[in-house]
Amino acid sequence: MIDIFELPTAFTITFIIMAFILGAVIGSFLNVVILRTPLKQSIVVNRSHCMTCGNQLKNIDLIPIFSYIFLGGKCRFCKSRISPRYWIVELLTALMYVLSVCTLGISVELLLTLVLFPVLIVASGIDIDHMQIPYTCSIIIAVLGVISIFTDSAPWHEHLLGAVCAAVPFAILAMVGAMGGGDLHLMTAAGLLLGWRIVPAAAIGIVLGAIGGSIVLLGTPKGLKKQVNEDVERIASEWYEEQKEKEIYVIADKSDVLFGNIFKGKCDIEESCIDEKLWNGKPDIKALCERISALETKDFAVSIVIEHDKIKSSSCKKQIVFGPYLSVGIAAAFLFGQQIIDWYLGLM
Ligand SMILES: [Zn+2]
Repeated sequence: MIDIFELPTAFTITFIIMAFILGAVIGSFLNVVILRTPLKQSIVVNRSHCMTCGNQLKNIDLIPIFSYIFLGGKCRFCKSRISPRYWIVELLTALMYVLSVCTLGISVELLLTLVLFPVLIVASGIDIDHMQIPYTCSIIIAVLGVISIFTDSAPWHEHLLGAVCAAVPFAILAMVGAMGGGDLHLMTAAGLLLGWRIVPAAAIGIVLGAIGGSIVLLGTPKGLKKQVNEDVERIASEWYEEQKEKEIYVIADKSDVLFGNIFKGKCDIEESCIDEKLWNGKPDIKALCERISALETKDFAVSIVIEHDKIKSSSCKKQIVFGPYLSVGIAAAFLFGQQIIDWYLGLM
């Protein structure tokens, strides 16, 4: 490893500026990935355009970080507000790269973070937008984990233990519904990369998630959850009556549970959610989703229990997106995990 602060000042400054520019350019690309990949759109073919008026952006509008400031956060053509998120992602990636080169110097770890941090930012962005963490993100982190087995000083079994240490508790959290499957595969992959440092990563992620989650829950009006629950149960009952008129129902003495989320004005109960052994036909899940989507509420996890003759119950839970918090934990542990472990052991 070459510590950039031991180089002549001109080199130190050059490395920092290069890291900033590289991060800003990559951050600009990450915005496109976050926006387009969940919609299965090409990330290279189409030129960037305004989301409101559709006009193609000029080259001068595509300079990371600075264009947003020049344009005052508004579209050149229609003056509609551009989400500050694009700017935040660019600046965040740039700052993370600077932090990496300052902390890790010129090293193999630096190369790993140049991939790791963008992947964490994409995973967080897509989790915020769609409440899911793409498998691809976790797979890339797992690949970095395999590379790190050969490049860092920790023995291989510590990397494997890291993966197991993450997989077991997060699988339990996923089973009780406290976290999603995406959080589980993200943390397992991170465990392979981080080894023992997965412990501070998980601790930071869970503490931040608990704080962030509490703020969300406290910000939810008391009556809202009850109201949403009543609405969902009413809609589900009306819908099930219609299914029964079409001679489609849950067979006698059985019950099935439908799970889904109401997120950004869309309900996402899937066709595959029904247990076909329990039904005598295929209920119209799409119609149910459409009606729940019309509720104009958001960020609720719903489950609906259906018995042969009626909707038995339904429940709604405020959804909390954990991906960004876990990502902060993973990034912090990658850069400072060993120091955190040493500091903690020093306290004991
Ligand atoms: Zn526009």
